[in-house]
Amino acid sequence: MPPSNDFGAGKRGSVRKKDANCSFCRKSYRDVGPLVEGPEDVYICGSCIDLCESILDQEKKRRGGKTLFKHVPAPREIVGFLDQYVIGQEHTKRVLAVAVHNHYKRLMLREEGATDDVEIEKSNILLVGPTGCGKTLMAKTLARLLQVPFAIGDATTLTEAGYVGEDVENLLLKLLHAADFDIEAAQRGIIFIDEIDKIGKTSQNVSITRDVSGEGVQQALLKMLEGTVANVPPQGGRKHPEQQYIQVDTTNILFICGGTFVGLEDIIAKRLGGRMIGFNRSALDDPTERSRALLKHSTVDDVLNYGLIPELVGRLPIISTLGPLGTDDLVRVLTEPKNALVKQYQKLFEMEEAQLEFTEASLREIARVAIEKDTGARGLRSVMEQVMFEMMYELPEKSEHKKYVVTPELVRGGKPIPAPLPRDDSAAA
Ligand code: ADP
Repeated sequence: MPPSNDFGAGKRGSVRKKDANCSFCRKSYRDVGPLVEGPEDVYICGSCIDLCESILDQEKKRRGGKTLFKHVPAPREIVGFLDQYVIGQEHTKRVLAVAVHNHYKRLMLREEGATDDVEIEKSNILLVGPTGCGKTLMAKTLARLLQVPFAIGDATTLTEAGYVGEDVENLLLKLLHAADFDIEAAQRGIIFIDEIDKIGKTSQNVSITRDVSGEGVQQALLKMLEGTVANVPPQGGRKHPEQQYIQVDTTNILFICGGTFVGLEDIIAKRLGGRMIGFNRSALDDPTERSRALLKHSTVDDVLNYGLIPELVGRLPIISTLGPLGTDDLVRVLTEPKNALVKQYQKLFEMEEAQLEFTEASLREIARVAIEKDTGARGLRSVMEQVMFEMMYELPEKSEHKKYVVTPELVRGGKPIPAPLPRDDSAAA
């Protein structure tokens, strides 16, 4: 629609006064072309009109569209939420809570139109810790709390354009999917990139079909982490010239990267050298305790030893390390979180009008078997499924008010199913 220029009584039209200036940008008629005249010698030029239009558009969108948050949870609140799902990792919870709070607070203020001269930069996060210690879980749980779209990607599948594998933009496509193609929502989502340590130049994990140095991928990731307008192919796959792209601005997407950085403890131990003296010797004999103690001292330099380019690490200013989960932690993982495996199985039994109980020793045994697999808490599910399989197979036929008790022997696979015990109402009470 052409802008109406009938401002004020008697004023009309664009003017061609040679000495007139735009009242907004102060540029002269000679530089900016025709001006629209308002009352009392007020003029506006074409580019200021365009600018006004886009400001008003944004404002309309902001008011009409979904506003992001009415309230950004305080760090303590975020930790409280994480506690319901994630066992241990207290320090990382706090680090994440502060980072995420600041990130979304910053977005919220910006949406509210706060124009301050202090620009708060985005702080992406690097989580370092062994497999199955809760890195992905924490990122996912945060996204759930904040109700923002969330996507998980694996850095090892990414390649520089021209090689076999996925383009970095596919991570954004996943986020778009998670947001039901609501671009605005996707642009403030969270992306978790796993195995970031495997794209280092010195990584063992190289193949001839991949960008061998890993550096191309790192550069592409770097751009995305910094904030860029990326062209995302809506169907995924490789880009080709005739394709239509969806443009996604990554400036406000929060990136959380995760990596196991195997052997990082040794790099740290080497760096610390003699200063290890302060460590509790007996703790250093226990491998879990040793990694925990050492990982606490990790720095950016240790991470650089993995061949990540400094610019990329620089874009991950917040580094937090997670320790491996020990037996006690795993028992807690089995029983405490809102969706703990034990609770899930008990619910299934309840649905069949039966009861399920795990002895403390059986839980420790499940944890022990999982630790042997060396996949952290991730191993628990498969151990549990194995233990429960036969029982689940029989349950719908046999249940009727029975109580089943899982014992360490059962976990070890010794006996098949313990004979169902008659319901003990006093124990249930
Ligand atoms: P990773 O650290 O390798 O990203 P994940 O977060 O994917 O590990 O963990 C795999 C699974 O193990 C999770 O889905 C969750 O069920 C369980 N898990 C891992 N760590 C924890 C933890 N600290 N608290 C509760 N559950 C956990």
